[in-house]
Order: sequence, then C-alpha cells, then structure tokens
Amino acid sequence: MRYIEKHYDTPTVIQHELELKNLNLDEANLRNSETYAGKSGGQLYETVRDMPTFSALKEQMYSEQGGVCCYCGMKLEYPFNPQYRVEHVLPKETHRELVGEYKNLLLSCRATKEEVALRADTSKPKAQRKGYIHCDEAKGSQEITYSPLNRACENAFWYDLKGEIHYNNDEEAKKDIKTLGLDGEYLNKRRRIAIFSLLALSEDELIAFREGLQHPNSEGKFAEFYFVIIDAINQLLPAV
Ligand SMILES: [Zn+2]
Repeated sequence: MRYIEKHYDTPTVIQHELELKNLNLDEANLRNSETYAGKSGGQLYETVRDMPTFSALKEQMYSEQGGVCCYCGMKLEYPFNPQYRVEHVLPKETHRELVGEYKNLLLSCRATKEEVALRADTSKPKAQRKGYIHCDEAKGSQEITYSPLNRACENAFWYDLKGEIHYNNDEEAKKDIKTLGLDGEYLNKRRRIAIFSLLALSEDELIAFREGLQHPNSEGKFAEFYFVIIDAINQLLPAV
C-alpha cells in the first residue's frame, strides 16, 4: 500500500467544499443530528455523487493515485466503463458527517469481468469464491488502521516473490489484510504474473526498471501493482 497525498488547495476541492456547505452536507453541518435528521450516510451520498463538482473531484483523486486502486494497486478503468468505486475510508454508514468530504474519499477498484465470472461459479466452494472479493467491496462498512491516508501504511505490508502479501509484526495490519481481502486468490495470481517477468532481468535491468516504477509515467500513471513489483525487485537485488 502506498500513502496518497491529497491536495486541498485546488480550485476543484475549494469549489466542492463550498458546494457541500451550500447544501449543508459539509462535516460541520452534518455533525448536527438535526441536519438531514434521520438520513443515513448512504442516503446522503446519493446527493453528493450528483453534485456538479463531483466528476472533477474524482478526476483529481484518479490523478493523485496515478490511476491505480488505493488499496491493491490494480489499474482503474476511468472514466469510461467505470471500473472503480468511490471509497469512504471512514465508512459513510458510521461517519455520515464525512460522506462528501474529500479528505475521506479515495478511488478503489471494482470487480473485473473475470472476477464476476469466478464469483458466480457455484461449482467452487463459497470460501474460495470469497477470494475474489477485495478492497472497498470486501471492506464494506468496516474500519481499517492502515489506509493510504496514513503514512505508516507504507511500512505495514510487504510482498514476496510469489506476489503474496505479508505484514510487519503488527496485529492491526494482519486484520487489515483480511478486512480488505488483500490475500485473496485472484490478487495473488495477478501479482504473481506481474512479478514473473522480472526473473529474466539482469541486476542492471532490475535497477533501471525499479527506477521507472517509482514515478508516474508521462501521462501521470503508475504501473499496475507498482509497489508490489518494487518489493519483489528489492528482494531480487543483493542487499547493499
Ligand atoms: Zn483494489
């Protein structure tokens, strides 16, 4: 997982916050239970997502994340054929005051066509089918300790050469892996494929490749699973 730096001083965010206030949907207003009394975060979100600034806000989030899922690093298809979900880091069900606040929003992946098909395959045991649900969909209205809004997330997890996720001696991180379904079969397979081609590279090639992965490309995009691949390269290179 990588820390995502948010930019609060852009015209988009400033305009969005203004619109939230105008609709009494900002954090301060929603903390008052009399504002939209009885309305849940889910119900209020229906208004938030139709706000005029919301598309531009999503665009900004997509660019801040370099085009990949905030949790697993899978490439997001955006804005056409939407293969992303707007993720409320603190769940909108329990924190309705944050339903529209940019500081609580990230873009997460949505199930790929392949995953949808795998989930529907009832010949497989239920537990196995659960391995195709991850990120926002797995998290639902649960809370996590290490989100991409917490810098400590960068040291909480690491990936081995098979693409499997591990945690650094911390029960909260272990719990977060389960909550987010980051150890599921589908992600393991995709990550393993992303790492496999590295094995043919020389030391110099690995160093150059890692350098390229650390920054977004000329279109502002990160490579899919870039932080997974970086971890794998670090293990392939001799320790300095
Ligand atoms: Zn994801």
